[in-house]
Order: sequence, then C-alpha cells, then structure tokens
Amino acid sequence: MDSTPTRPLQTASLEASSPFEMRVNLSAGVSESAIKQALQSGDIGFLHSFTTGSAVDGPGVRLVAWTSGCQFKCLYCHNPDTWLLSNGMPVPMARAVDELKKYRHGLQVMSGGLTVSGGEPLMQDRFVMRLFTAAKEMGVHTALDTNGFLGDRLSDDELDKIDLVLLDIKGWDPDRHRYVTGKDNAPTLAFARRLASRKRPVWVRFVLVPGLTDHPDDVAHIAAFCAEQGNVQRVDVLPFHQMGQYKWEKLGLDYALHDVEPPTNDLVEKVCGQFRAVGLVAH
Ligand code: SF4
Repeated sequence: MDSTPTRPLQTASLEASSPFEMRVNLSAGVSESAIKQALQSGDIGFLHSFTTGSAVDGPGVRLVAWTSGCQFKCLYCHNPDTWLLSNGMPVPMARAVDELKKYRHGLQVMSGGLTVSGGEPLMQDRFVMRLFTAAKEMGVHTALDTNGFLGDRLSDDELDKIDLVLLDIKGWDPDRHRYVTGKDNAPTLAFARRLASRKRPVWVRFVLVPGLTDHPDDVAHIAAFCAEQGNVQRVDVLPFHQMGQYKWEKLGLDYALHDVEPPTNDLVEKVCGQFRAVGLVAH
C-alpha cells in the first residue's frame, strides 16, 4: 500500500468536495491506545470528511459524515481508502457538532438532515450515537448508512433514536456474499429483522454490478425478504460505476472489476421491476 499521505495532516480539510477524494494516513500520528480509548468513549471520530448537498443519502438535502474503517472488502467498493480507520482524520466530538451546527438551519429548511456513512459507521458506534444525539437535540433528522454487520452494537433505545436506516444488502446467497464482501450476510439479515421488529424505517440499498450481484434468484430472494419485513419504505438500486477504480490502483490493491461495465438501463429497470413486483417502491 502507498503510505504517502495525499494531503498533510495539518492542511487536510474536514470538508471534501466529494467522498471520491482520496484520503490516507490522516491519523498516522495517533497512538493505538488513543484510538482504542476514542472508540470506547466516542470522544473522537475518525472521518474521511464531511460533504454537503447530498440529495441521495436520505430524504431532502443532507450533510454526510463519511467515517473511516470497514470490516467488509467489497469488490466494487468505490472508497477503499475508508477501509482503514487510520486513514481517517481524528475529529473531536465538539468539532463534529460545530460542523453540524453550521448547517442545521439549512438542513431543516431543505427537509434534510445528517447522514453518517462510510466506510462502516458502526465501527465507531459510540461516536456515531453521540453525534446523532447532538443532531436530535438540534432537531436535525438522522440517517445511518450501514452494512448492518455490527448492528448488535446498538441498543434498542439507540435504534429508536435513529430516524432512518439506509441498509446495504449486498447479496443473498451466503457464498456469493462472502465472495463479494469477504464476510457473511447473516448478521446483516438479522439486523434487518431486528429493525423490522422495532418498526424502524428502512431504505434498502442494493449495488447492482453486472455479472456479480445481478443473479435473478438472489435479487428475487432479497426482494421477498425486504417485502416480508414490512418496514422497508423504498429500495435504491445503485448502478455500479468505475469512479473509485483509481483509488484501488493508488492504494496498490488488486481490483477485480476493471472490465465490468456499468449496468444498462434495461438491467436497472429489470432489477427495479423485481423489487416492484413484490410491492416495494424501487428507484
Ligand atoms: S461496506 Fe461499503 S465501505 Fe465497506 S467495503 Fe463495502 S462498499 Fe466499501
């Protein structure tokens, strides 16, 4: 892996124009014990960045906090620089709350809110819940974008404080899911069932990669599962793209999808149709 920071720690900005900006080694000077303490307390978060103006990460216009650290290694990941916690910038809770305060009125006017995405936010569950608590105290809508693998880290009370979960379901067949992500899908599905049992609103996100995640039986099973839960308000079918390819190359990672084209409109419509066929709203 290239260990050269693309931006020195001192000048890295908390705000980025997009999560596609590559960021590495921004916590290189932070000791392991300080990281451990930060994870336990939530006093400090490790963030790729904040971005503003998103209209695709929850309702309305969103401020998005992009966390570092992910236990999955999705073959199609477009932000592999967020896999390592230490690539994120150490951000004290007070600074993150100040960032939110800057935008709170605009977010409320535009019927939006705060989304925490990643990476995998639940790698930093204490920081995320403290930031969400601050958001709720300001009257800001909260959304958690998660692969669900670490859903057990949140108590029922905490789940009830999150206005919306954007749940990434990456596959149905366990072997294919392990091939695509490196991990089992059972914890994700268990988290989905738990959210349903608590009647928490969920938007499911499904990344569509031709030849990798478009197996018709898999899609049909995911669709049936989502419909059964009764709390899935919509399904976002996210077409694969190659915008993150350069990050894999710069990080010295093996990228398996060089030759994969984005899905055609016909394939996107076909997959959306499978979700709609069981009564779900799909885009
Ligand atoms: S869960 Fe998200 S951040 Fe983690 S590897 Fe997969 S696509 Fe990347």
